[in-house]
Amino acid sequence: MSTKPYGVNELREMFLSFFESKGHLRLPSFSLVPQNDASLLLINSGMAPMKPYFKGEVEPPRHRVCTCQKCIRTGDIENIGKTARHGTYFEMLGNFSFGDYFKHEAIAWSWEFLTKVVGLDKDRLYPSIYENDDEAFDIWTKEVGVPADRIFRFGKEDNFWEHGSGPCGPCSEIYYDRGEKYGCGKPGCTVGCECDRYMEVWNNVFSQFDNDGNGNYTELAHKNIDTGMGLERLAVVCQDVDSLFDVDTVMNITNHVTRITGASYGQSTKTDVSLRVITDHIRASTFMIADGVLPSNEGRGYVLRRLLRRAARHGKLLGMDRPFLFEVVETVIQENESHYTYLRERASYITKVVKVEEENFARTIDGGMKIFGDMLAEHKAKNETQFSGADAFKLYDTYGFPIDLTIEMVEDEGMTLDQAAFTKLMEEQKVRAREARKALGDLAWAGIDLGLDNTPTTFVGYDQTTCDAKVLAVCVGEDVSGTIAGGEDGILVLDRTPFYAEMGGQMADHGVILMGDSRFEVKDVQKDKGGKYLHHGTMIRGSIKVDDVVCAAIDVERRKAIMRAHSATHLLQKALQSVLGDHVHQAGSLVEPDRLRFDFTHYSAVTAEEMAKINAIVQNAVLEGYDVVTREMSIDEAKKMGAMALFSEKYGDTVRVVNMGDYSVELCGGTHVDNTAKVGPFELTSEGSVASGVRRIEAITGKECLKKMERNQECLFQAASMLKTKPADLSDRIQAQLDELRELRHAIESYKAKEAAGEVDRFLFGAHNVSGLKVMTVTVPNADANKLRQMGDMLRDKDPSIAAVLATVNGEKITFLAVCGKEAIARGVKAGELVKQVCTCCGGSGGGKPDSAMGGGKDVLKLDDALAKVDDFVAGKVK
Ligand code: ATP
Ligand code: MG
Repeated sequence: MSTKPYGVNELREMFLSFFESKGHLRLPSFSLVPQNDASLLLINSGMAPMKPYFKGEVEPPRHRVCTCQKCIRTGDIENIGKTARHGTYFEMLGNFSFGDYFKHEAIAWSWEFLTKVVGLDKDRLYPSIYENDDEAFDIWTKEVGVPADRIFRFGKEDNFWEHGSGPCGPCSEIYYDRGEKYGCGKPGCTVGCECDRYMEVWNNVFSQFDNDGNGNYTELAHKNIDTGMGLERLAVVCQDVDSLFDVDTVMNITNHVTRITGASYGQSTKTDVSLRVITDHIRASTFMIADGVLPSNEGRGYVLRRLLRRAARHGKLLGMDRPFLFEVVETVIQENESHYTYLRERASYITKVVKVEEENFARTIDGGMKIFGDMLAEHKAKNETQFSGADAFKLYDTYGFPIDLTIEMVEDEGMTLDQAAFTKLMEEQKVRAREARKALGDLAWAGIDLGLDNTPTTFVGYDQTTCDAKVLAVCVGEDVSGTIAGGEDGILVLDRTPFYAEMGGQMADHGVILMGDSRFEVKDVQKDKGGKYLHHGTMIRGSIKVDDVVCAAIDVERRKAIMRAHSATHLLQKALQSVLGDHVHQAGSLVEPDRLRFDFTHYSAVTAEEMAKINAIVQNAVLEGYDVVTREMSIDEAKKMGAMALFSEKYGDTVRVVNMGDYSVELCGGTHVDNTAKVGPFELTSEGSVASGVRRIEAITGKECLKKMERNQECLFQAASMLKTKPADLSDRIQAQLDELRELRHAIESYKAKEAAGEVDRFLFGAHNVSGLKVMTVTVPNADANKLRQMGDMLRDKDPSIAAVLATVNGEKITFLAVCGKEAIARGVKAGELVKQVCTCCGGSGGGKPDSAMGGGKDVLKLDDALAKVDDFVAGKVK
């Protein structure tokens, strides 16, 4: 029997409906971004997002569930394009039982699906089991009818799923023999060989034991099934193609890449690897961005950046010298939108993010390549074959070079990279970041265990500002013994609280926890992983201990101010979208008392005109006085209402929806005013850039606005009173003053000119006749170089036969100006020579043109002497 070459989209649907027919609830893929799970950067299996169901922390919507889960496995990045079966992005089909059916059904159904539904040749299928799982062996041989010699037994590392202590169990995999042509040809090549002939298609995990952490295994009362089958691998088998890059939907993406780059697929291994890396990485990036990841230098953002930059680098290897990945996004969307319908809505956004990152990278590469070249030359000059880890770290840290890019470039030069040194520097950087986090009082990081169960603190703060509560734990420094005394800083945990813990950008409430005369002041509230609220603060007087009943009361004025800012943030987000466009999405926010900061995706500065519009829309929404209504509902209901669920997909959970009239609907856990009018005054205060493609707007509300208005008002009144007028007449008054000032300046200037002219006339009167030229010297009091020049010009204009030296003294310093009229010059007297003469006499120097020249002197006592010699000097020169 042979199968039909089903397409990827068909196979997905066949799997999900098959398991629906076996009583499973079909759930949509969870987001690639893990929710409430700090142990994982990105979802890497169908089971990962269902951990709370397996652990029994959350009741699953049904005890049989099936999914097709988007997965990212960065650990496989080195394999991409080199093996036939690995992608960093792939989809995992899975059926799950939470304490419902077990081995018999799981094995039987996996066989039924592969052989009956898909129609794979059972002579090509080989199950593997855990070495001593005879139960599975019997099921495969007796119930399914697979001959015993076709079943492989593997050891713990391959076929036993375990993760520290807790639930664990044996696995049973199903391999498909793709035929000799894919084999490595080595003797002993059979199921389990690392080559691509026998390909693992499906893994069934039977979690049946509990490991107490010391290697003691006990049978679980409720056994679970967790299975995973790579959708693309299944397609490889059905379509009988070389690799998962050759299945229908993926090939179409590669085809687009070959069209753009002009490279041809299937000609050389090196080119094929580049084409496959590009195809894989742009698929992964498209899905990650759609789930709200943005390129950055840490965590998920760094994974995305690394994928995009690696793809861009392979583009460069294929000769691309311009951004092109962003064009391929469209094909990724086309190939996947029939199932992942949300991709289309986010298309222009995803394209933009990719394009901006490509452009940034091009700039980085240009800047960093030169540095890399210098480093390389230095290494080579020293005859070193190992590139230093410190240089690689510098390229990473300062120039944004992903380490694998540096490794590849170093290897292209026939060198190796000191990865250990690089890793050490990275670790040191991480420790620094962790220390910073610890300083924030995160108990888990600090390794402090309060010894409490997992019941979350009951939050009553949506409708109450005070409540009575029981003290569950007290922590002072690292001491969790249970009391806190006056003067100490510490943490209180209560069974219920009106204090909002810092979350979703909203700052924590402040306030007091009281018991009789004892008073603890709360300065910060953080929620830990188990949902316990940690009240950080200082015991001002008295003491509090575990089991005490206390009264917790928040600072109501501060809370109100926070609520005003938070509600204003929702109004602002909506206004931004209506003025700038639908691509605007929240990229971060900070809500403080009457102050807010909102980061959003947008690709150019917001103009003054747009700012004015946005301001007006928000102010208008405040004046409209929309009622603010909050409700809890399922995510689907929320989406129907148009809530902006884009980046916070948590399926199966209830969400809190905040409506402001018909104006805005958003998913939000924060606290809000009950009517938008209570936001009071609102004002945008600044706009700027935080990262490429992300802008930041800041605004103030309520009392902050009033304070600012008051300050402005005061300024205005003060200015008006200084000018002896009313604020309304201030600008007229200022204008009048400015006009008057200008007139006065004018008058002064012309007075000065007149005065100078009068002086000049007096000087001329005292001139001597030397061979028919008018020679004069004068020391002008209270003058500067400018005034001398002005007077000199006048003298020359008045009399062409003038030869004059003007001097002025400022402290120890003499400034000289000599001028000669046309006639004087014609007769051989030059200002330049004249000034040199007097300057030299006074121990200085000077020079210039024949008609006008300047200089300086230092010896004031010689001044009169110097001037007295001018007549003789002229007499000696004149012709
Ligand atoms: P392999 O040894 O081939 O890397 P694995 O043991 O890592 O596989 P599992 O962790 O058991 O695989 O994942 C379950 C299934 O998911 C596999 O049987 C396979 O079909 C698929 N799968 C795993 N990793 C990848 C990948 N990188 N790309 C595509 N499919 C994968
Ligand atoms: Mg693997």
